Amino acid sequence: MTKQPIVPHWIQGREDLGSSKRTAEVFDPALGEVTKLVALANSADINAAIDVASAAFPSWAETSLARRQGILFNFRELLNRKKSELAEIITAEHGKVLSDALGEITRGQEVVEFATGMPQLLRGYYSENVSTGVDVYSTRQALGVVGIISPFNFPAMVPMWFFPIALAAGNSVILKPSEKDPSAAIWIAKLLQEAGLPDGVFNVVNGDKEAVDGLLSHPKVKAISFVGSTPIAKYVYETGTKFGKRVQALGGAKNHMLVLPDADLNLVADSAINAGFGSAGERCMAISVVVAVEPVADELIEKIVERMNKLKTGDGRRACDMGPLITKVHRDKVASYIEIAKKDGAKVVVDGRDVVVDGEPNGFWLGPTLIDKVPVTSSVYTDEIFGPVLSIVRVRSYAEGVALINAAEYGNGTAIFTNDGGAARRFQNEIEVGMIGINVPIPVPVAYYSFGGWKSSLFGDTKAHGEEGFHFFTRGKAITSRWLDPSHGGINLGFPQN
Ligand code: NAD
Repeated sequence: MTKQPIVPHWIQGREDLGSSKRTAEVFDPALGEVTKLVALANSADINAAIDVASAAFPSWAETSLARRQGILFNFRELLNRKKSELAEIITAEHGKVLSDALGEITRGQEVVEFATGMPQLLRGYYSENVSTGVDVYSTRQALGVVGIISPFNFPAMVPMWFFPIALAAGNSVILKPSEKDPSAAIWIAKLLQEAGLPDGVFNVVNGDKEAVDGLLSHPKVKAISFVGSTPIAKYVYETGTKFGKRVQALGGAKNHMLVLPDADLNLVADSAINAGFGSAGERCMAISVVVAVEPVADELIEKIVERMNKLKTGDGRRACDMGPLITKVHRDKVASYIEIAKKDGAKVVVDGRDVVVDGEPNGFWLGPTLIDKVPVTSSVYTDEIFGPVLSIVRVRSYAEGVALINAAEYGNGTAIFTNDGGAARRFQNEIEVGMIGINVPIPVPVAYYSFGGWKSSLFGDTKAHGEEGFHFFTRGKAITSRWLDPSHGGINLGFPQN
């Protein structure tokens, strides 16, 4: 048997296999084969990385804004030039088609570009003469070592939601990527080094729960940005805050698209396909439920099926629209919802298990699946399936649709499709969801706005990137100063009044 290469950690500017002998398998999901192993850190490995990041922090925080900005500009240029390499790495471990892998890098790059504006974003305020001869001003400073824990579905974009801002603000970083597709993080670490980032400022520790727990409990780690499923997000939030850390933990989702009878059904059908089946439905902003206000459902389903029939499922390196799922276990779990749907009385319109693929037979395939008349009591409706399974729920009115969405556990994204501006305006006001699309199916905010949901989709009060990102990775100081002049008035035990 050939020996598999091991994806290492990246500590102090070099590859490091750590002291733990534990590893996990990394698959190429389109081949269904193990292509690499990944090192899984133990607590000694995590502690070593934290010590390195902690030692690198003071001089990085003292590095001028101009120099930090320059390094981020270099990184942006290198990324732009070499992103096809990164896209290939993502496709080989995640399975998404190459164009989609490039798309996630481009969305991540937006945050790098935003972070280069940090001289503006880190500025404080200055108020002169708040009391006679007294000035007050504010400043924001880096926190120290911060941890980023990311999910498998966006191995480049999700880390890039956080680390450009954390670094711009002067923090040192430990990234713990998903053990399912760890190589993108190592590639990024090398590129940051090439861009001129001092060694030790950005480190990657691969691992599982042991590595996460090491970050959550270590006193030198000041903040944690987590993205993943809701149960783990809740755990990370509760544990991290118990250890006195600042935590933002973005969780799972189940996003609805509300279709009003006046909507353009061709646009709706195109959007449902893109948002339901892009990246094989493994997106936290995927649309999983189309809520059709009658009488549109039958006509809409016809249009969706017409488009589904043209989709090509297969190896993301070939000319396909949709790739495989991340693991066999996950593929089988997603497929099991098709039987649950039947048992719960829903109608399976398109069964993805019958798909003909342009790929190797052992890949983790499941084709686009459409299920109509899904009862809202069924786990097909309530669970985050995280695969290419689109449900249709029929409602009688706008109000019934809104009540359904507002009653849901998650509040990450939602969309309304209509030509009625008044209805759309009312929707944006009364819907209890953090990110809303109006005739836009995947309303991921651009980098200078913040990304994050409501309810079980976000634990903590700060979202990713935008101004909230800078707020999360810094802490404020207010300084009150007086420089004595000849009019100094002597002792006064009260607060200054004028
Ligand atoms: P996951 O929760 O299984 O893993 C996320 C991270 O947590 C990984 O780094 C993993 O190693 C770590 N982890 C796993 N089990 C752990 C445990 N028991 N204790 C501590 N850490 C643990 O999520 P995933 O399957 O990698 O990603 C898919 C999920 O992420 C979906 O639920 C999706 O909705 C969510 N997601 C949310 C957003 C968002 O912005 N809200 C974005 C992307 C993905």
